[in-house]
Amino acid sequence: MEEYDIAVIGGGPAGMMAAIAASRNSSKVVLLEKNPKLGRKLLMTGGGRCNITNRKPIKKLLNFYPQKNFLKHSFYTLTNEKLLSFFEEKGLSFIEEDDNRIFPETEKSSDILNILIDYLDDVTIRYDFEVKSIVENFIINDEIKAGKIIIATGGATYPQTGCSIENYTLTSHPLTDIRYGLVPLITKKDLSDIAGITLYDVIASYGKSKTKGNVLFSHVGLTGPGIINLSNEISEDINYNLLENDNPEIDVEIAIDLCPDFTRENLQDKFTIDFQAKGKTMVKNYLRLFLTSNFIDFFLDEINIDGETQLSRIDKKSKNRLIENLKRFTFEITAFNKNLAKVTIGGINLDDVNPKTMESSLTPNLYFAGEVLDLHGPTGGYNLKIAFSTGYLAGLSASEK
Ligand SMILES: Cc1cc2nc3c(=O)[nH]c(=O)nc-3n(C[C@H](O)[C@H](O)[C@H](O)COP(=O)(O)OP(=O)(O)OC[C@H]3O[C@@H](n4cnc5c(N)ncnc54)[C@H](O)[C@@H]3O)c2cc1C
Repeated sequence: MEEYDIAVIGGGPAGMMAAIAASRNSSKVVLLEKNPKLGRKLLMTGGGRCNITNRKPIKKLLNFYPQKNFLKHSFYTLTNEKLLSFFEEKGLSFIEEDDNRIFPETEKSSDILNILIDYLDDVTIRYDFEVKSIVENFIINDEIKAGKIIIATGGATYPQTGCSIENYTLTSHPLTDIRYGLVPLITKKDLSDIAGITLYDVIASYGKSKTKGNVLFSHVGLTGPGIINLSNEISEDINYNLLENDNPEIDVEIAIDLCPDFTRENLQDKFTIDFQAKGKTMVKNYLRLFLTSNFIDFFLDEINIDGETQLSRIDKKSKNRLIENLKRFTFEITAFNKNLAKVTIGGINLDDVNPKTMESSLTPNLYFAGEVLDLHGPTGGYNLKIAFSTGYLAGLSASEK
């Protein structure tokens, strides 16, 4: 039987960071990864560019997480400055994009992964090693014995990256309901005709929640940052748990404000003036002032207005319908596009994990890090931030204890 001070289960960003922090503290560490390679999901992040973190000041940043009190200590232990300097020491620079999103200057997530692998020099890595059982005294798969274990097995979504719902039941730790997060939405209506079109800087709303951002149409529904951030609220409003039901039915409405820079009154006034001044203009041409041109035919079809009608011939009812739909264009949502959920909401119940160390309060010497915990944030670098910070804290605490 091989013996180690610490066994880290899962070679994603949380597990790699945990293994690095522990091995730098002179612990004998083994990293167990079920895939033939490390960081499969990390490579896909940010469309292959890796939005590694979000550079808002910590206090402001924490407000974006439902579990901000739990995360506070780990965020102050591995600050953004410390995280980025870790990569800068190996020659990588970073760029900041809108909304404080940070990417490597090379725009390659593989550069982040390669540096992490470089830092794993003193760690024994076992590839193609799927942990199936952990028995008393921390014996893993009857093969490896560890003084401490850090579980960093990730979420339940994107199974092709190594994630699976079974990860959550490796220990008997209590779980909160497990759900899809940051997930595109499937609409009742077939959107094939407008697949690929993006609406820029619109406001999407669900109930009282609103997000400003781009909305993209796919063949089956809606996606893009504005939509997937809202999807977290929808997912949390529905009563389901992926352990029992992986395709919950949804019946909600998403409304899109296609003209956020105009109020209804502004539009009314503008239409009154323009419809007189440009009476001979066809409505489909006029709408280019407000909408991306390849979306106009679909929009007019949906609201039953003939695009070739001249402005002077549009009756009052149609004019009001135009205004109403420019401000509130709705889609019925029937399901999650589950294979594309970027994160998992829910997981190991935080009530049983010490936020100062990431150690279980039920089983001494057992630690958790990353997405396997009941932690998630919006899109924009917030989720890798969780993985790196909690991973670092778990590795540090396990090696110091
Ligand atoms: C397409 C996509 C794009 C994303 N883009 C971003 C982004 O730009 N910015 C951002 O902040 N977040 C992004 N995310 C979210 C982010 O990737 C995750 O939150 C993050 O990877 C979680 O890290 P983790 O280490 O906890 O889990 P993971 O990265 O999922 O790693 C878990 C690892 O554990 C291994 N494992 C699982 N079970 C076992 C087992 N039983 N035995 C051994 N090994 C096991 C898995 O194979 C995997 O390698 C994105 C997610 C997706 C899917």
